[in-house]
Amino acid sequence: MFGGAFDPPHNAHLALAQAAVQQLGLDALHIIPTGQAWHKARALSATEHRLAMARLAFEGLPKVVIDERELERAGPSFTIDTLEALQAENPGVQLYLIIGADQFVAFRQWHRWQDILKLAIICIAGRANFTPAEGDFYLQGQAHGKGEGKAKQAVLTLDLPLMPVSATQIRQLMASGAMTAVEIAHLVPEPVARYISRHRLYSPR
Ligand code: ATP
Repeated sequence: MFGGAFDPPHNAHLALAQAAVQQLGLDALHIIPTGQAWHKARALSATEHRLAMARLAFEGLPKVVIDERELERAGPSFTIDTLEALQAENPGVQLYLIIGADQFVAFRQWHRWQDILKLAIICIAGRANFTPAEGDFYLQGQAHGKGEGKAKQAVLTLDLPLMPVSATQIRQLMASGAMTAVEIAHLVPEPVARYISRHRLYSPR
């Protein structure tokens, strides 16, 4: 699973999704726009816009499933609930959780993080200025290791270059008037830029 606010989805999200499918040999990649993100202080853009942009950004990629379950769930979006549901729907499969390093450095604050480690292998994409501690990469060894002889690899890193883009930067560039939706087209997939323009998202009021 690859979850995010996707407010908006940008080129790094896309590169990450592609790398995950290729490097992990995934049968399916569930793109999961978050509902009420418990760890984000600001109000997110409307669900319909984030979902529409996620479709435009990711739908053409092989193996991708746009998964709306967190948008439909009342209350905070917890990753463990989503992983448990995916596991119940797909018994016997190995789950992977795809996240950027900025999320991983705060991983021990996540709801039931130890249970997440028991269910999924975490796959991290590097993010500028966020370097997980060396020991963090072996977290899952403890979770899966008991009685199995060799402990499974805890955490994998995806092999892709650091990409400095963030959704915050895109919203700020637009809100300040520094860039128009046309000009941010090098930061987001083109259909997303068109959608932002058509719906006047993130523009100065
Ligand atoms: P915001 O700036 O609004 O916090 P964001 O750019 O971090 O947004 P999210 O939708 O919150 O985007 O991110 C979804 C997932 O993608 C997270 O796991 C995040 O770490 C990862 N991610 C986002 N941008 C990058 C990037 N440039 N490099 C690596 N991972 C990224």
